[in-house]
Amino acid sequence: MEENSNNSAHAILTMYLTEHRLRKTPERYAILDAVCSFAGHFSLQELSVRMEEQNFRVSRATLYNTIQLLLKIPLVVSHNFSQHTVYETTFQRPNHCHQICRVCGKVTELSVQQVEPAIDTMKMKRFHKESFSLEIYGICSTCYAKMNRKRKKKQQQ
Ligand SMILES: [Zn+2]
Ligand SMILES: [Zn+2]
Repeated sequence: MEENSNNSAHAILTMYLTEHRLRKTPERYAILDAVCSFAGHFSLQELSVRMEEQNFRVSRATLYNTIQLLLKIPLVVSHNFSQHTVYETTFQRPNHCHQICRVCGKVTELSVQQVEPAIDTMKMKRFHKESFSLEIYGICSTCYAKMNRKRKKKQQQ
């Protein structure tokens, strides 16, 4: 395990910016810190709120452009769950899979201990794999219980 700070995330960003002759602005590092402060997924809106909480004001455009930059490195990945985009950092986060409720859209994370060895030993077709994500669609327990209650009510009528 790496040391538990954002220093190595900073180092990755610095390396990329240097390599691509991009400016090392404090905004870029502050946004990266905010991104790493989320334990799971976040939307652009949630990221914007977190920046404000830390008294760091950046424009929506800067926020968006920086996320696009972090996606290229990639220190961030994006997911399209039920029509809206969420982001999460790849930094010091293990591979995981997502359970997506098709009724309420809630997304929860699951460890992939059983799946990982299968992916590891999978033969790629002219492809160098870096990471993977897995989405499992279904109904969350809350929605499932609601549906059952409705069903029972109907039966009683
Ligand atoms: Zn649900
Ligand atoms: Zn996730």
